[in-house]
Amino acid sequence: MYPYEIDGMVVKANSLELQQRAGSTTHHPRWAIAFKFKAKQATTKLLNVEFQVGKVGSITPVAKLEPVALAGVTVSSVSLHNEDFIRNKDLRLGDTVLVERAGDVIPYIVKPMEELRDGSEREIVFPTNCPVCKSELVRAEDEAAWRCENPDCEAQLLQRMIHHVSKNAMDIDGFGESQIERFYRLGWLHSIADIYRLDYEAIAKLEGFGEKSATNLRAAIEKAKKNPLYRFLHSLTIHHLGIKAGKILAAEIENVWDLKDWDEERFRQIKDIGPVLTHNVIRFFQNEKNVDILQDMESLGVNFNQTDEDKRRVVSADAPLSGKTILFTGTLVKMGRKEAQAKAEAAGAKNISAVSGNLDYLIVGEDAGSKLKKAQALGTVTILTEDEFLELVGG
Ligand SMILES: [Zn+2]
Repeated sequence: MYPYEIDGMVVKANSLELQQRAGSTTHHPRWAIAFKFKAKQATTKLLNVEFQVGKVGSITPVAKLEPVALAGVTVSSVSLHNEDFIRNKDLRLGDTVLVERAGDVIPYIVKPMEELRDGSEREIVFPTNCPVCKSELVRAEDEAAWRCENPDCEAQLLQRMIHHVSKNAMDIDGFGESQIERFYRLGWLHSIADIYRLDYEAIAKLEGFGEKSATNLRAAIEKAKKNPLYRFLHSLTIHHLGIKAGKILAAEIENVWDLKDWDEERFRQIKDIGPVLTHNVIRFFQNEKNVDILQDMESLGVNFNQTDEDKRRVVSADAPLSGKTILFTGTLVKMGRKEAQAKAEAAGAKNISAVSGNLDYLIVGEDAGSKLKKAQALGTVTILTEDEFLELVGG
C-alpha cells in the first residue's frame, strides 16, 4: 500500500548487466516496461439530479449518488455536463450507474446498468426555468447548455463576483470563493462594484480575519484597481470574452467606454473577434444595469484606460518572424539590445539566449564573436546583419 494514489507502474530489470544485454530500440529501453492499471470502477444508485447555475447562466446538471468509495475517495456527486449527455447515455433517476475514476481525473458516469432496471426508474426532466430566479431558460442552436439569461439572476451574480476576483481576471490575492460567499451573505456585495467599496474596519472585526488580513485584502484590491484593461474586460463575465479576446480588445481601445460606442462594423475590423462575441459585448453595453456598475467602478478608482501592457502588439500568425527564435550578438548600432528584442517579439519571434539547433535567426552586430562562429558551424541558423533584420521586420 502507498499513502498516495498510483495509476500504474514501470517494471525494470534491476541488474545493469541484464540491462546492457537487453539493449534498447530506437525509442525505448528493452529492459523496462510500463503497466497502466485499469481505471477503478464501482456501481451505485443515481438518487437525484440538481441543476446548478454558472456565471454566464449555463445550467449544469449534477447527479447526486448514493455515496460510494472509488479509488480512495468517496463519490456522491458527479457532473452530467448537459442535457445531451443525459439523453445520449439514457440515464434515469433510480438507475444503478457505473462510475469510473482514472488517476486524478474527476469521477464520471460511464453508463446506466440497464439490466438492473426494475421499471421504477424515472425520466430526468430538464427544467424549463432557472432553478434560482425562475426566468425561462434558452438554448442557442450551437450550444450544448441551457442558459438563464436574466442578468440579475442571483446565482449568476455570485459566480460572476467569484470570477471577477479570480487569478485570470482581476487576480485579487487572498480574495476567493469563500470570502465572496461570506461577504455576500453579510449583505456587503450586490454587484462586482461593491468589491471596491468594502468596509475594511468591519472586515477586520470578522472572526478569522483581523487587522492584518483586512489590510492585506485592501492592498490587494488597491493593486487590482490599476490592472491592465485586458484583465478588467475578462473580469466582466461577458460570454466568450476570455483572456485572449480581452487582450485583443484592450489593444484596440483607449478607454473601456470606447466599446460602448462601437457598432458591429467596428468589431468586424478586428481579426479574431467573431460575430458571437461581438453580439455579446454589444448586448452587455446596451444593458443599463451593466453601465451603472461600470460607472460605479470607474468612480471607485478602477482603471479604465489602456495601459502599456495592453498596448503590446498582438502577434498574428502571418507576422514576419512568427514562431521563430532569435538571438542578437555583437554591438548593435541602430538600436539598443532591449529595443531590438522588443521589435523581434512584436514580429512574432521568441528571444533565446544561446546558439543551438533551436535557433532560427542570429542577428549580428559589430565585433560579433563566438556566437557567430558557432552559428556558422551549425549551418542551420539564418545569419542577418542589423540592417537586414530591420528590413525583415519593417523597420
Ligand atoms: Zn436565473
